[in-house]
Amino acid sequence: MTILLVAEHDNQHLQSGTRNALTAAQRIGGDVHIAVIGSGCAAVAEAAAKLAGVSKVRVVDAAHYADQTAENLGIVLAQLAGGYSHVVLPATSFGKNLGPRVAALLDVAQISDIIEVKAPDTFVRPIYAGNALETVRSSDALKVVTVRTSAFDAAAEGGSAAVETAPAGPDLGVSKLVSRALTESARPELGSAKVVVSGGRALGSAESFHSVLEPLADKLGAAIGASRAAVDANFAPNDAQVGQTGKVVAPDLYIAIGISGAIQHLAGMKDSKVIVAINKDPDAAIFQVADYGLVADLFEAVPQLVSAL
Ligand code: FAD
Repeated sequence: MTILLVAEHDNQHLQSGTRNALTAAQRIGGDVHIAVIGSGCAAVAEAAAKLAGVSKVRVVDAAHYADQTAENLGIVLAQLAGGYSHVVLPATSFGKNLGPRVAALLDVAQISDIIEVKAPDTFVRPIYAGNALETVRSSDALKVVTVRTSAFDAAAEGGSAAVETAPAGPDLGVSKLVSRALTESARPELGSAKVVVSGGRALGSAESFHSVLEPLADKLGAAIGASRAAVDANFAPNDAQVGQTGKVVAPDLYIAIGISGAIQHLAGMKDSKVIVAINKDPDAAIFQVADYGLVADLFEAVPQLVSAL
């Protein structure tokens, strides 16, 4: 049994979710190889080779992988996958885009967003926005699996895998990257931050969202998240959304401020280790999942919390 883990990267750095997906791959058992497909991505291959428990890194380096378009990656991955028992990807936007294409090309069913490995063919995954857990067994000879990264610890360094080159696939020329608008932030990345301060519709404006939440996030070294209502109202950027249709996070500490606790929001944060909620409505659903709840007006409570810190 040999597993091919697909590295998520930007041609220079390995994204942290790859390390969490590696832990899931190791739980499946057998040898783990990592596929690094990119352009000028030697540094990524080097970083992947240093991860503990990886026996081989297979690098495909060609100009038409620079933008990581899923069409070109999918076809070469389907070629690389021959002989493997599993193809594993992080269930991030990258993996959610690429995994189904690879599964379709290989004519197998994708097993999505797993949170537990029961056996090499049996996995647990949340359904209905996290309200039920489903155990699925796949009889496909090759299994394409995406991994909920917040459910697995990041694999450590300490390996020295062999790095070998594999041939590139075709440039399909069916899609091209027009532009990429990146949010620059000195804060930790939302998906891997240990502390997340999240704000909802109650913040009232983009200005208040930032002026109220940022001092608290600064004190705690936290990432800033948002409910969908806050994102839809343009208080916060799209990539800050936590929930069923946003990011799934499980930090050590999640502070929900002026967030009602709709089921779709809970789906993205209820596995956080400690949840603190500040809401002026004592019946708000968020208090049902909170370890610590403060019934208060956020515009008074948050500045007080900041000065106490
Ligand atoms: P509200 O529900 O309006 O809650 C605001 C809260 O702030 C209230 O509880 C109120 O008591 C409190 N409040 C008001 N003023 C103050 C004050 N001064 N001090 C303290 N508290 C105050 N939502 C997500 O978040 N993420 C998702 O990924 C997501 N995906 C969805 C997918 C689908 C298919 C659908 C249908 C919905 C989805 N939603 C998602 C939307 C979700 O249903 C809710 O509408 C949304 O989460 C509500 O955001 P909110 O809690 O900020 O706003």
